[in-house]
Amino acid sequence: MKYADEFRDKAIALGLAKTIHAAADPERSYRFMEFCGGHTHAISRYGLEDILPSNVRMIHGPGCPVCVLPVGRIDMAIRLAERPDVILCVYGDLMRVPASQGASLLKAKAGGADIRMVYSTIDTIRIAEENPAREVVFFAIGFETTAPPTAVMVRLAEKKQLSNFSVFCNHVLTPPAMQNILESPDIGNIGHVEIDGFVGPGHVSTIIGTAPYEFFAEEFGKPVVIAGFEPLDMMQAILMLVRQVNEHRHEVENQYRRAVTRDGNPRAKEEISDIFELRDRFEWRGLGEVPYSGLKLKRAHRIHDAELRFDMRELWVADNRACECGAILRGAKKPVDCKLFGTVCTPEMPVGSCMVSSEGACAAHWTYRRFRDQEQRGAS
Ligand code: SF4
Repeated sequence: MKYADEFRDKAIALGLAKTIHAAADPERSYRFMEFCGGHTHAISRYGLEDILPSNVRMIHGPGCPVCVLPVGRIDMAIRLAERPDVILCVYGDLMRVPASQGASLLKAKAGGADIRMVYSTIDTIRIAEENPAREVVFFAIGFETTAPPTAVMVRLAEKKQLSNFSVFCNHVLTPPAMQNILESPDIGNIGHVEIDGFVGPGHVSTIIGTAPYEFFAEEFGKPVVIAGFEPLDMMQAILMLVRQVNEHRHEVENQYRRAVTRDGNPRAKEEISDIFELRDRFEWRGLGEVPYSGLKLKRAHRIHDAELRFDMRELWVADNRACECGAILRGAKKPVDCKLFGTVCTPEMPVGSCMVSSEGACAAHWTYRRFRDQEQRGAS
């Protein structure tokens, strides 16, 4: 196949659905977690759950970088942005994420903080060059996919000798989060999550490759199929998982071969390891503190580490008690299980982070499935 449309062919999708129905053993259930928010979005957008057998259940995972950022890290960014000498550069998704006490970066901006939305890391370098008398801080978030551009930006800042540039680093890593979910399936009494296999993240895997998932297949006996983001990619990946479960196999398979290799992108991995090192721990919304799951700048680049430069104090802030984002990010609940879904909490007035980003499970359900979800809630 050559063009995106071909990966959305309805007849082929229905044919794959028929094959999954035939392959799925009616005597058992299949619970597959799609780790990545992009996959959650595709499942909702294309209504894939509606054509799967009722005993094949997709569980949304924590793979939305905006969603997993805890409230305390947003509060830290707001405090930083409120300094008169600072320009804080952020990606647009972050602007409306609720912080504590009804705050957000958007409200801080309205209150006078100099917060600028950027589309690429290069924008931040330009802003730093144009404002030599100000401190320009990049609010870096994302998984292994967005860490390389941040690394390149740090290298560029050093080359240009930009002494007014730094990074508030919130990059997180996929494999430690998967391990956390498998090792502590009932953290915080928010529900037990049984998982029979993973649809592995496509974008992340273009960087890290498929090799890091072999650990999960071997140590936890869980099949992993790395998948692309089109509906046929997802359907094929689900079929591959069903077959692995039926055959008692637990292997790493690569459905997304047009973009992903076993070893990933060596240049991007080198950029990450040159600039970053592992944090001992990092807090994730929904997962709590996960050891070795976050990145920080290496000692050699510490002059560009905003947390050191501004002596930022780590903040731990509890989530809004009515918001079920934590349980949803662990796969223990679905958006419709939240009493605020679609009533108090909507994309216009989000209460939790999962309703903000388009990759968030609540936003995906609200955008594509809210009427279907309500029907199902009424019927149950
Ligand atoms: Fe949180 Fe809103 Fe989702 Fe409920 S619907 S879990 S309040 S983001």
